Amino acid sequence: SVQTTVNHSPNIRVVVRVRPPNDREEGDNCRIVVKVVDDQMLIFDPKEDAQAFFFHGVQQKGRDLLKKSHKDLQFVFDKVFSKDINNEEVFKNSTYSLIGSLMDGYNCSVFAYGATGAGKTFTMTGKPDRPGITFLTMTELFQKREELSIERDFELGITYLEVYNELVKDLLNPGPPLHLREDSKYGVTVAGIKVYKIQNPDELFSLLEQGNRNRTQHPTDANAESSRSHAVFQVYIHMTIKGTGEVRTAKLSMIDLAGSERGSATGYIGARFTEGANINKSLLALGNCINSLADGQRHVPYRDSKLTRLLKDSLGGNCQTVMIANVSPSSLTYEDTYNTLKYATRAKKI
Ligand code: ADP
Ligand code: MG
Repeated sequence: SVQTTVNHSPNIRVVVRVRPPNDREEGDNCRIVVKVVDDQMLIFDPKEDAQAFFFHGVQQKGRDLLKKSHKDLQFVFDKVFSKDINNEEVFKNSTYSLIGSLMDGYNCSVFAYGATGAGKTFTMTGKPDRPGITFLTMTELFQKREELSIERDFELGITYLEVYNELVKDLLNPGPPLHLREDSKYGVTVAGIKVYKIQNPDELFSLLEQGNRNRTQHPTDANAESSRSHAVFQVYIHMTIKGTGEVRTAKLSMIDLAGSERGSATGYIGARFTEGANINKSLLALGNCINSLADGQRHVPYRDSKLTRLLKDSLGGNCQTVMIANVSPSSLTYEDTYNTLKYATRAKKI
């Protein structure tokens, strides 16, 4: 059955990225459960065709076609990126189009959603030789600034923070938790956060990596490198139109969300349980806000979490939102992938 239609609010784009399988996921006891059909459609838990019973030309044991039942669910999104699609192409088909909205003075937000290990940080930050979409979007923004420099003066300031345990912390200038406040010019801002006035994108990548090293991380039984914090990169854009003196501001927020896996599966206890509960709270609140917006409801529950309070002026209205749902292709993370696809589907449903 088809899980979604393409009929949705034009202000939110929902895309899904399937990462390549790692060595463990190509082993004997697992199979690929995400089949990308085309650039808008995938099948979750497909019925195995005869070919899938062979691996490196050898027939696989223990796979009884008749006994196995498969969900065989078809999902449709604004874009589906298969394992062969690189960061550059993801950028061109996801956040590239936000630059125009920013130049018009509209806030924009981008979310990487998915379980730990699904590819969120690879998508957002990337590697030095394969920079992610934050860097690529910023490069485009700098290019646009250059193009428009005859008619406008620009000022760009960036911040990088994390929301961890419902507390806001500066990732570039670590210190005590910070408070949110309302600013007449920029809307919601963070009091006391260090704003970097960067002149070119080259300085950016090392700042992102530096910030990522400051993210709060705890090894858990299930995930050695799990990340329970939401990393929020923000760009404040201040433009003065030279002819008229008109001032235009906009804000771009790019968020590497905490892992969406269920707390129960990772087996943490005590203080860490609160931690998990808070993260679920932020992800749940974000989901609820996006659902309300997609449904055209007038009440949007921004106040339900720190993350949604921070992004209150960057979701809904004329704001553009891009949701990138990251999944691993393997049966080893079957439930996580299924949950992520359902979350992404709800995000765009009317
Ligand atoms: P997350 O941030 O969601 O926990 P990561 O981005 O750290 O996950 O990805 C987990 C691992 O998979 C990393 O080693 C990362 O480099 C690799 N990876 C993720 N996505 C891709 C991709 N599209 N291509 C190649 N490697 C990837
Ligand atoms: Mg990560």
